[in-house]
Amino acid sequence: MGDIVCSKCGIRLEWVNEWGRYIHKNGGAIMQFCTDCKREFTKERPVRACPYCGSLSVVDNHIAMPRYER
Ligand SMILES: [Zn+2]
Ligand SMILES: [Zn+2]
Repeated sequence: MGDIVCSKCGIRLEWVNEWGRYIHKNGGAIMQFCTDCKREFTKERPVRACPYCGSLSVVDNHIAMPRYER
């Protein structure tokens, strides 16, 4: 079985039994996006402020979505 990656952003995903869902490697289920510095980031828990520029213009981008190879 190959690596499972997110179909939206291509980052490796890890399965978390405890939550019954996939998370982005070294991050969380939700990929967030800063509309000020245009950077994507994922944290274990969603954050209100951008970790790069501190802006509060943070929106949820997508939830980890596994892409299965055929
Ligand atoms: Zn993703
Ligand atoms: Zn930012």
